[in-house]
Amino acid sequence: MKIVSVVGTRPNFIKEYAIEKECRKLKINKVIVHTGQHYDFLMSDIFFRELSLPKPKYINVVKKESHGKETAAMLSFLEEVLKKEKPDVTLVYGDVNSTLAGALASVKLRIPVVHVEAGIRSYSKYNPEEINRRIVDCISDTLFAATRESYENLIKEGHPKKCVYLVGDIVKDSLEIIIKKFNIKINRGTYNLVTIHRMENITSNVRLKNIVEALIESKQDIKFPLHPNTEKYLKNFNLLNKIKKAKTIELLPPLGYIEFMKVLAGANKVLTDSGGVRREAYLLRKPIISLIDIVWFPDMIKCGWKYIAGDKKRKILQAIANFNPQSPRPNIFGNAQAAVKILSIIKKRYGKR
Ligand code: UDP
Repeated sequence: MKIVSVVGTRPNFIKEYAIEKECRKLKINKVIVHTGQHYDFLMSDIFFRELSLPKPKYINVVKKESHGKETAAMLSFLEEVLKKEKPDVTLVYGDVNSTLAGALASVKLRIPVVHVEAGIRSYSKYNPEEINRRIVDCISDTLFAATRESYENLIKEGHPKKCVYLVGDIVKDSLEIIIKKFNIKINRGTYNLVTIHRMENITSNVRLKNIVEALIESKQDIKFPLHPNTEKYLKNFNLLNKIKKAKTIELLPPLGYIEFMKVLAGANKVLTDSGGVRREAYLLRKPIISLIDIVWFPDMIKCGWKYIAGDKKRKILQAIANFNPQSPRPNIFGNAQAAVKILSIIKKRYGKR
């Protein structure tokens, strides 16, 4: 059996880590194809190096252009790759433009698509991730849900039960391996960790300014690894110098996964608009302050560990000062066996083609 795994962004590489480990164990032939969506050392190569991922067999070069041009370039690259490789199945992760391009190229060639992290819904019609995820779910042959809620979303939407599997979150698989391997200690330290990169936040002068002002005015120590897109917009909106002057905020480059896990594990609270970071924060028992109003994983709100502050300065400041949940944290994300389950299902469904 041959799998083509389409990856293109930082969160994809991290999820690929757990899948790669399991493929090695099962001696499954998996070809990694890199769409080039994230391409520089700190957003791409460092993950391949740190996580000992095999060098992709194909690497695309994309210019940083509009979503349309970027997706189109990846689509035509992936079509050629898939025609050449003729895999039994194409595996795509999450909700980025690479996911959309991979799924579309594959299904048009009648190669079944399996979607890892299917069914997450924010019901925010124009959120770029929501658009990608909904389309990919519609054209996938097998849907792997990370949470019960995602599973139920898919069933409610009418996806046939025999194609939808609740396997738990692959993010948890990768996180647990790394925490154990590097003996990373989890404690509530004295600083808060901040990550922002969602388009809704960074391309809005108003939202970005509100968030930056709240971080500065909180006067609490903050570690803030900067996504390259965030850095670009902070500069454009004349906010970068303002942050640099704040003595309590430590700006960092984008971190490799191991370093990022260490910083996360030692944080007091986590302020983020990231889909992945909020789950990792929950798994490492950190109070989560969401800097975007979009709701992903409502179970984290229901149990009291995630607070939606959006870009509201007053809410962010209050949460930094006072948000200290003590309630129990239910197991939302499964038992860190997602990769094992995903590959066993893939083998069963596509192994004899
Ligand atoms: N991450 C990292 N270094 C950083 C920031 C994030 O390794 O400086 C990891 C993080 O652990 C998570 C993933 O990148 O697994 C999340 O990526 P991002 O927030 O860019 O994307 P999203 O999850 O929102 O799609």
